[in-house]
Amino acid sequence: MKLLDGRVVAEKILAEVGAGVRDLRSRTGATPALAVVLVGDFAPSKIYIAGKKKAAESVGIASRDHIHPRGLTPAELTALLESLNADPGVHGILLQLPLAAGLDEDRAIATIAPEKDVDGFHPLNLGRLLAGSPGVVPCTPAGCMEILDHYGVELQGAEAVVVGRSRIVGKPLAQLLLARHATVTMCHTRTRDLASHTRRADVLCVAAGRPQVITGDMIKPGAWVIDVGMNRLETGKLVGDVDFASASERVAGITPVPGGVGPMTIAMLLRNTLAAARRQLGVASSRV
Ligand code: NAP
Repeated sequence: MKLLDGRVVAEKILAEVGAGVRDLRSRTGATPALAVVLVGDFAPSKIYIAGKKKAAESVGIASRDHIHPRGLTPAELTALLESLNADPGVHGILLQLPLAAGLDEDRAIATIAPEKDVDGFHPLNLGRLLAGSPGVVPCTPAGCMEILDHYGVELQGAEAVVVGRSRIVGKPLAQLLLARHATVTMCHTRTRDLASHTRRADVLCVAAGRPQVITGDMIKPGAWVIDVGMNRLETGKLVGDVDFASASERVAGITPVPGGVGPMTIAMLLRNTLAAARRQLGVASSRV
């Protein structure tokens, strides 16, 4: 059984992004900058953005804070996002979700300029993914694909099963797998007999947000498993959606939680930010 170590893959990506940032700076004098927008007082969001900012700093990407713990009116949020859209010194906009009560997430996401939408959630970027000509790809699914590629998992013709159909993980991940010529099945809470689908999977990606929704007996022997789930148990332990102990007896490889998909999400955010800066500064690159 191979441990699909997201930390190793994320380090590789971060090193590439760091080199890309230095190259961009030497060619243009500009430093890629990420605006971090936090509206509300949701404690986990503060932890997430602290991690993202620290990683940005480590690769030379500047972050600009727009933190509003007491909230904003819809008009104020629109005005803030529009001013960041118009600011040539800002290349990416990270709008940390969830937003404070009373704010419409879909509307806010659609206000971000698509070329600065480094999360890849803007309808135009999601549409491009569906059309097969991706613009900015959402970070977590892009990170899952990087892990599969890093470990040489064959996708063409593979039976791929995605459990979960959220806009940020399941749906874009299914599109990315389809684009790589996997035969993709998507499962969700109304799926009848989940195990009958998961047992067919050569590549099983689970993003349900339910601890142990997948147990070893639901996995085809020799499958590759990507566990996107991050669930905090009452004991404080962080676990995925897959029962790691029983799964690891059957799989060819599996991502651990923590240390699997989690580190990839931040790495891909920074890669998206560098790519956005390059596009806005008119610098081509074959690397991102
Ligand atoms: P979400 O929006 O709650 O979506 C969960 C999806 O799973 C829904 O489509 C739901 O189906 C489906 N589902 C839930 N229970 C199921 C079950 N018993 N059987 C089959 N399908 C089931 O969650 P999300 O935002 O996609 O996140 C999923 C998990 O990934 C969470 O644990 C989250 O913390 C984690 N996550 C991790 C990262 C990372 O960086 N590692 C990033 C994002 C998310 P319905 O559509 O029918 O409700």
